[in-house]
Amino acid sequence: MNWDPLLNEAVQHLQDYLRIDTVNPPGNEVEGARFFKKIFDAESIPCQLFEPSPGRGNLLATLKGNGKKKPILLLNHIDVVPVEKERWTVDPFGGIIQDGYLYGRGALDDKSMGIIEMMALLILKRESVPLDRDILFLAAADEETGGKWGIRWAIENIPSLRESEYALNEGGYVALNETGAPERYEISNGQKIVFQLQLKAKGTSGHASMPHSDNPNIKLIHALEAVTKWETPYNVLPMVKEFFQKMAPKQSPDERKYFEDIEKALSDPSFSKWLTSSPIYNAMVRDTISLTILQAGSKANVIPSESNATLDCRLIPGSSKENFLKEIKKRLGDEIEVDGRMEGKSIPPSLLNTDLFYAIQKIASKNDPDCPVVPLLLPGATDSRFVREEGITTYDFCPFRLPEKEIMRVHGNDERIALENLSFGMKMLVEMIKEVAT
Ligand SMILES: [Zn+2]
Repeated sequence: MNWDPLLNEAVQHLQDYLRIDTVNPPGNEVEGARFFKKIFDAESIPCQLFEPSPGRGNLLATLKGNGKKKPILLLNHIDVVPVEKERWTVDPFGGIIQDGYLYGRGALDDKSMGIIEMMALLILKRESVPLDRDILFLAAADEETGGKWGIRWAIENIPSLRESEYALNEGGYVALNETGAPERYEISNGQKIVFQLQLKAKGTSGHASMPHSDNPNIKLIHALEAVTKWETPYNVLPMVKEFFQKMAPKQSPDERKYFEDIEKALSDPSFSKWLTSSPIYNAMVRDTISLTILQAGSKANVIPSESNATLDCRLIPGSSKENFLKEIKKRLGDEIEVDGRMEGKSIPPSLLNTDLFYAIQKIASKNDPDCPVVPLLLPGATDSRFVREEGITTYDFCPFRLPEKEIMRVHGNDERIALENLSFGMKMLVEMIKEVAT
């Protein structure tokens, strides 16, 4: 296959796509859906545009197989998060290329994924590759604010999606180390459970010149100190154990034995202190609590009658929310009212003994021998939770090679993708599909 013209084509499409402003809110994803529709129409690939609410568009394209196997769903989202335009060195909606990188909001999250998934369908169609299963492409709205008009609507209203055996979505990457060498292929097969709590302290208002003991701000800060100091117990899932085992050979000789049995290693205080000083490792082995919103008082000389805080907690799948809440309340004390604000469901991780996972392993070992393919428990939440809930084996994996400093640009300033990642991603995705669909 001649990849150079395909790369040029992908780059041009991504430039055009990045120039469509789909900042959510309001999203305006219908413009992105129309963009894809025009391209699929020109290639005679059947597709349907859905607009469940004005401006909120979803696009489903289907490349037909012979039906021997159930479909694979290639999922991506059209919307992007807002930008701080003055902090960018280029126009975030300009589709600008500089020094081998294409810049723009969505260059990594998640418009590039949409483009390589689309290119995969185009390539398979042009080559007339005989397929044993349908390849579904869904560009969804509203991922960044919870998926109501996107994946949640689509899963409910488009029956063919629920037929899928596999889904592939954003999440993990081919992580590079500081020297640029591949360190691991991260396949996220599970996510933590979102559990947000609203806290309220009540007291007596009054003049600040006469402090008294019923100040809600004081009650709240003492309660918050206790709860945020809580070192939640370790809860290591088998997939997390496997992650560390597979990463063990990459560690220094001293750390290797700890990684080989992470559960045992966590009982060593100095090792567990070291491990949990890494926010990502810490999030993988326990429930976490982040204090995100504080609201109290509006005038310097007035003691308010009420103060509020929000805790964003992320639980290990399978954890008991009731027990967690009981522990939280114990630390907050009787004077703080607690309300659940947003609760995700506990969805078990997708299994790894599948053709799709083996396909990724096979391609990875060809690309990068000795580089482990690891399951990843994603601390954040993606659209995959709604797909996985349907019993569909769902992996979050963008086939892009990225060092951490590039990943940090996601939702940040000067988000960009190296052009070579588009060709690597396209090739790997086409190979993956061929492995499981032919
Ligand atoms: Zn995203």
